[in-house]
Amino acid sequence: MVKKKKKNKKILGIWFADWANSFEDPRSAYYITLAISIVSFILLFSMVGPVNNATGSKTGLVTLVWIIIITFFFSLFLTLKIHSGISTHHCPKCKRIYAGEIYKQTHLGSRQRTAEFRVKEKEKVETGKKKFETGVEQIDTYHNKTKCKLCNHKWEYNSAKSTRVA
Ligand SMILES: [Zn+2]
Repeated sequence: MVKKKKKNKKILGIWFADWANSFEDPRSAYYITLAISIVSFILLFSMVGPVNNATGSKTGLVTLVWIIIITFFFSLFLTLKIHSGISTHHCPKCKRIYAGEIYKQTHLGSRQRTAEFRVKEKEKVETGKKKFETGVEQIDTYHNKTKCKLCNHKWEYNSAKSTRVA
């Protein structure tokens, strides 16, 4: 490991997490992106009338609609990412999101169970209208020792991962 001279302001390198973490409370970033999503969604619907009633060239209006659509999806993506950061991927001490780094993971065990799986699009054509099929799912549980990259706080939690095995 190369030792770098530490700056006062540490960053994670995940741009949206760093942006949200730059607020005193990352929830502020969440409210901002949520507000932008809602406003652009409302704007989009208020554009339907003007676009339909426009006479002559609609190029300007259509461009505007596209800008709003892109803004909507972009802010929605950020809202969901930041929300998941705040609800599950945050440091319990400094509350910064996506700052936890697993430095030791122990496999606790695994169990299998039958589960319903969605039939893949490609196979759906062959099997007709069948949407689900029965298969075997394996659930692996892990114990994670985590360290915050920003404040060095350490905490532990269990997680589970499921994979289809048959
Ligand atoms: Zn922390």
